[in-house]
Amino acid sequence: MNRRRWFVGRKMAVWFWVFLALLITTDFCTNYIRLQRRAEPAAMADARGLLESGEISCPSFQGAVALTFDDGPSAACTPKLLDGLKERGVHASFFLVGQNIDGNEELVLRMYREGHLIGNHSQTHMQLTAESVEEACEQIEYTNQKIAAVTGTAPEYIRPPYGSWSEELECMVPMTVALWNLDPLDWKSQDKDAVVSYVKDHVENGSIILLHDIYDSSVEAALELVDCLSEEGYEFVTVEELLIE
Ligand SMILES: [Zn+2]
Repeated sequence: MNRRRWFVGRKMAVWFWVFLALLITTDFCTNYIRLQRRAEPAAMADARGLLESGEISCPSFQGAVALTFDDGPSAACTPKLLDGLKERGVHASFFLVGQNIDGNEELVLRMYREGHLIGNHSQTHMQLTAESVEEACEQIEYTNQKIAAVTGTAPEYIRPPYGSWSEELECMVPMTVALWNLDPLDWKSQDKDAVVSYVKDHVENGSIILLHDIYDSSVEAALELVDCLSEEGYEFVTVEELLIE
């Protein structure tokens, strides 16, 4: 009899603790949800409301693309491009020709400070594979030192002029080669509309777009592309972000 009373008492105690635990958990969850709701900024709540009501719609994510600019910097064109990219909150990749850095050090520093990727495009825009490996390496190293003297950091990426690279150079140069996969031939047409139209027709997730910030038409095309492709749901990243992802 005593044993049975002890058993019933123990059972009730277990139920009591289960009930208490449930009570505490429910109270915690209610408070947590209340706090979360309170933490949501009014603007976010408004935007959520508009999205749910269908009054506004966001473009669906189409992919990440990289705008890349070779042959600069150019005192005449690059500042306008940097202004436009800053205004739009977009980071691009610049492959600099060493001899064009002379006198444009402030522009290079600005690129670096504004979060753009800076890469090497040789010293004199020579075809690296047409020279001896020693000469090619010297050209590359010279430009790396010039960039490092301005930004404090040597570039990790190289875009060889004309995309001309070799296995020998691959072994000798401890840098990552960043080529392109979408070329609207902006240097040839120097026509903003033709460049915009070509890129819009061929762009896809992972596009590395080749442009040159030494032509006004290319700068205007780039900024127009940022506007229209962002509206279509594309995100602009640096080549490093694209290659790492
Ligand atoms: Zn080039």
